[in-house]
Amino acid sequence: MNAMSCTATASTGETARTGRLQALISRVWNHVGPYRRKMEEAGMTPDDIKSLDDLRALPFTTKADLRDNYPLGLLACDRKKLVRVHASSGTTGKPTVVAYTEGDISTWSDILAHRLAVAGLTDGDVFQVVLGYGLFTGALGFHCGAERLGALVVPSGGGFTERQLLLMEDLSTTAFTSTPSYALHLAEVIKAAGIRDRLSLRLGIFGAEAWTEEMRLRIEEDLGIVAIDSYGLSEVIGPGVAMECPRRSGLHFDPDHFIIEIVDPETGEVLPEGAQGEVVITALSKEALPVIRYRTRDLSRLLPADCPCGCGEPRLERIKGRCDDMLIIRGVNVFPSQVEVALSRVEGLSLHYQLHVVSGGAMKELKVLCEAGAPVSEEEALSLSRRAVKAIQAVATIRASVEILAPGSLERNGGKAVRVVR
Ligand SMILES: [Zn+2]
Repeated sequence: MNAMSCTATASTGETARTGRLQALISRVWNHVGPYRRKMEEAGMTPDDIKSLDDLRALPFTTKADLRDNYPLGLLACDRKKLVRVHASSGTTGKPTVVAYTEGDISTWSDILAHRLAVAGLTDGDVFQVVLGYGLFTGALGFHCGAERLGALVVPSGGGFTERQLLLMEDLSTTAFTSTPSYALHLAEVIKAAGIRDRLSLRLGIFGAEAWTEEMRLRIEEDLGIVAIDSYGLSEVIGPGVAMECPRRSGLHFDPDHFIIEIVDPETGEVLPEGAQGEVVITALSKEALPVIRYRTRDLSRLLPADCPCGCGEPRLERIKGRCDDMLIIRGVNVFPSQVEVALSRVEGLSLHYQLHVVSGGAMKELKVLCEAGAPVSEEEALSLSRRAVKAIQAVATIRASVEILAPGSLERNGGKAVRVVR
């Protein structure tokens, strides 16, 4: 298993993928009532799929479809074949349940082992999984993928920073995965304890939150590692859908397993090559819960396959944010990532922050809470706040209010950081 294993010619690959798509659509037509009804409403049958391009005529699958058929109404296999479920947190009401056959777990492990190998992990690495084990797909996904690759896996779970560092030091951990915000927290604690030289870290794999290039640079500098961006979502399979190589210029994905389209988030129209829009994913190899044209709500664009690393796999640009995360502040569209970029430009601020959307008459206003990098006086806090307001105005063209907090004020639990409070 290595970066060069994907060398089929485009035409052979396309014929094989078309065959897999046709088989998938037939299976779903025969076994998944709710999706078959959607196809019938669109006047389609499996015979209409003659090429990969015909995919775009098929109906979308959304998070609402999974919720409406809670917990396992979209299964394409006999329930007895299932060996595991995962679930994503439901911010409102019930969670979204996803299910796996033994074959799915094996395919997922293979996909992740390949992605981790392309990212630079080897069977000589000690890989610490600093994510919460449980219903969330992150920890067990990375765990099985790294084991499949032959790395030594340390399933330390989320939180308990002191224990994480003890294990990192005593087991000579060389690589780890966590959320980017928790990596930043680890970096701060390592710096404060002055123990960076006693650690063997060289590689970090980060996902589950949208993060910026500025955040990456800070993590890489503070921990002395290469920080790799990883993308995945439980509805599609979990982590491993796409991941960067050490060139860090876009996230590679395997087109034999995933067809990725970019659509207009409003109209659902497929956008021309290279345009930015909503990522829509069809998983070609899943047995239990195939998803056809899944609307991720994540924003990105497709990059050409010719990455300087030479692996030949197509690339997805780093996720810019979620359609749902876009804020409208005083009538201006703002992404949380723009505020993060602005805050990173103010010396003396940490990147632990939270955005609060508050009502300001007819318009929404933005209040930013951001921790200082070190304890500051009231006067210094005022100066930091002024500079942050200016930086946000320059990057996002809005006027926000900024409150400077003492270091450590915002929660760091190892899970997804709460970035936006509405
Ligand atoms: Zn590459």
